[in-house]
Amino acid sequence: MLAQASAIARLHILNHMRAVHFVQNETGVTVVVEDLASGEPREIHASYLIGCDGAHSDVRHTLGVAMTGDPVVINTQSTYIRAPKLLGMMPGPAWCIVVLSPRCGAFIFAIDGRERWLIHNFLRPGEQSTDIDRDSRVREILGVGPSFDFEILGKEDWTGRRMIAQRFRDRRVFLCGDAAHIWVPFAGFGMNAGIADAMNLSWMLAAVIKGWADPRILDAYEIERQPITEQVSRYAMGISRAVSAFHFSVPEGLESPGKEGDALRARIGREAYELNVGQFCCGGLNFGYFYENSPIIAYDGEAPPAYTLYDFTQSTVPGCRTPHLWLRDGRSLYDALGPDFTLLRLDPAVDVSGLRAAAEVRGVPLAVLDVEADEAASLYRNRLVLSRPDQHVAWRGDKQPDDPAAVIDLIRGASAMA
Ligand SMILES: Cc1cc2nc3c(=O)[nH]c(=O)nc-3n(C[C@H](O)[C@H](O)[C@H](O)COP(=O)(O)OP(=O)(O)OC[C@H]3O[C@@H](n4cnc5c(N)ncnc54)[C@H](O)[C@@H]3O)c2cc1C
Repeated sequence: MLAQASAIARLHILNHMRAVHFVQNETGVTVVVEDLASGEPREIHASYLIGCDGAHSDVRHTLGVAMTGDPVVINTQSTYIRAPKLLGMMPGPAWCIVVLSPRCGAFIFAIDGRERWLIHNFLRPGEQSTDIDRDSRVREILGVGPSFDFEILGKEDWTGRRMIAQRFRDRRVFLCGDAAHIWVPFAGFGMNAGIADAMNLSWMLAAVIKGWADPRILDAYEIERQPITEQVSRYAMGISRAVSAFHFSVPEGLESPGKEGDALRARIGREAYELNVGQFCCGGLNFGYFYENSPIIAYDGEAPPAYTLYDFTQSTVPGCRTPHLWLRDGRSLYDALGPDFTLLRLDPAVDVSGLRAAAEVRGVPLAVLDVEADEAASLYRNRLVLSRPDQHVAWRGDKQPDDPAAVIDLIRGASAMA
């Protein structure tokens, strides 16, 4: 309890601090922070530093890490409004409303479900936010006249980009989240990818700090995460460009009354749905990716299944996400996994003593879980699957490896192959 209280106190202190500068040497990192209330400087000493400081990352700039990609994918004029009467004028509540007209294309997001809305007005290629009268464009998008009352709470015009940091690490300093990658928030996922970065890096760092992993394991962070973020960035740019092209080619007849107009609206509505459903139901992007060429995964030659933005096939191919299933006792497999490595045993008769012993010798925390689930046979072809702390498959087999210590050394970054 005391430890928890002190951790909360430390977080509270850091919430009021701005990192100003850092230096690293072979043994650690010293960060100079400024107390935002008093202006007092203070030094923090740490073994490692993770720059999770967003798209404008000072940490990235200090490291001199360049970003490469596409600096402009789309420009957007965004306006946050309060309009208490808008909901009552709509056919029903919705979280996201796609506005299509021959004059403009926009998304409206419900912020509080009552009166606050965020409007993203997508600009045509070459158009600048300053070219467009904000008030009349908001009215155009909402479909209201000059007398409709709304209050502008915020204006934030932004450029959607596709930029990936050339390196995610410099010795004891790491980049994570938007500090390492930014993309147009079509197909969103900046937050999802940032959390996946943190999940990936945190277990490896914890393992090094606790002493059971070799520091070389930390090389796996960039090797695993950078290609995934590059891939996500291309999905996001692709969908952004497709949505923009669609928005800017809406036929004139879309607003015509009568049967022809109705038919056109139905067709365009269907096309808009098809175009957008993938980005909002993006199971493939979030769960289908796999780590290739990682120095800490024991590959066995089988290729992982392909995936799309919205669709994926669960697989135990090393590098893939540990296939999820519901256990017979009603729990999610993910709730039953230990916090560290978990050896999933699909047949309780399989001997795992060698793996257990090798893990113990190296101090690698390893739980064994006997999986009893109806779907197990279809999802898990092998009788043993080793799941990492971040729920990716590290190794699999029908019996324990001939040299269990070699597998344990590989997954803890201490192998000659690592
Ligand atoms: C319009 C829009 C829509 C989006 N929609 C989605 C979506 O639907 N789904 C999705 O997954 N993502 C979405 N994103 C992206 C998502 O918001 C970002 O990817 C995510 O917030 C990045 O998190 P982060 O922690 O890496 O960086 P940030 O959220 O930028 O946090 C960085 C933090 O570091 C702090 N900081 C910076 N410098 C210092 C310093 N020197 N000292 C101390 N603190 C510092 C900042 O104050 C900030 O709190 C959207 C983004 C935009 C702009």
